[in-house]
Amino acid sequence: MIDLRSDTVTQPDEAMRTVMASAPVGDDVMGEDPSVNRLEAAAAALTGKEGALFLPTGTMANLVAFLSQTRPGDTVILCSDAHPYRFEAGNLARFGGLLTKTLAGSLGKLGSADVAANIIQTDDPHISPTTMVSIENTTNLGSGAFYTVDEVTAMGQLCHERGLRLHCDGARFFNAVVAQQVEAAQLAAPCDTVSFCLSKGLGAPAGSILAGDRATIHAARRLRKQLGGGMRQAGILAAAGLYALEHHVATLAEDHRRAGEFRKYLEGLGISFLYPSPTNILFMASERAQEDVASLRESGILALPVGSAAIRVVFHRDISDGDASAAAEGFARVLRR
Ligand SMILES: *Cc1c(COP(=O)(O)O)cnc(C)c1O
Repeated sequence: MIDLRSDTVTQPDEAMRTVMASAPVGDDVMGEDPSVNRLEAAAAALTGKEGALFLPTGTMANLVAFLSQTRPGDTVILCSDAHPYRFEAGNLARFGGLLTKTLAGSLGKLGSADVAANIIQTDDPHISPTTMVSIENTTNLGSGAFYTVDEVTAMGQLCHERGLRLHCDGARFFNAVVAQQVEAAQLAAPCDTVSFCLSKGLGAPAGSILAGDRATIHAARRLRKQLGGGMRQAGILAAAGLYALEHHVATLAEDHRRAGEFRKYLEGLGISFLYPSPTNILFMASERAQEDVASLRESGILALPVGSAAIRVVFHRDISDGDASAAAEGFARVLRR
């Protein structure tokens, strides 16, 4: 099967499994796992932040980012397509007691003028104060669009002038870094906190990072424990994450190249795509998404129907050039019928 449903399906490769098997470990809840400590130090250095925390999932990393930087009753601004709003099971309401002010945005991205117009700060005791903004880089439902350093800088300036915290849900942060060839720390600098997934395009089996200032990461560590995310000999997983940061970041560019070639080939045959796709995610127009996905499955290709009129395809490190061209031919057969 050529699995294009998501970059979460990536498997740890042999070299990664080898470092996992020999990773030194300890009790991370006691702060004694050398592999977790190395990963957290490396992640902090890479993002230019004072500290970093290893968590089981991106969902928990985002939740802890919100919980550590807001109080129940506050309002947070996010895009109506943002993952924490759409796909994290209402955890901001359930565990954060937060109100969400969602803005339509464009390709999953918020504009700073739009955000500025929606910040509410008043002494009026009737009103919930806006205390945090969350952006997604790259965007999931926005077809892998990314914020540039200038755009994040403008958002950071606005937030900090108004006394708000800025979080970046960077589940695919390194796709954004690689696509615009900047340093991770540059793209992270305007944000108070940045999360990223090790378990998507980077190819680790599990785990995410939250990076930020010392006080926030200290608070986040307690919150992780409260949520049940304190793992013991987690170094087995952290070793995979560290390996991924060292070896699998640059190759994200290959995924972007294959996505671009796949699109160009199909566009040449008259098949249309819904949005630009500057990184590894594509949304293809399909009148019969469910049926087309079922036919693709019969040809050994897995993709994700999105509603009834689109199919999502995600390129990742387990899709070779050969897989990519076989998939392009399979899509051509099914979609041109
Ligand atoms: C996948 C994803 C997450 C959540 O990560 P999990 O590890 O699946 O919990 C958060 N934000 C975005 C944009 C994602 O794509």
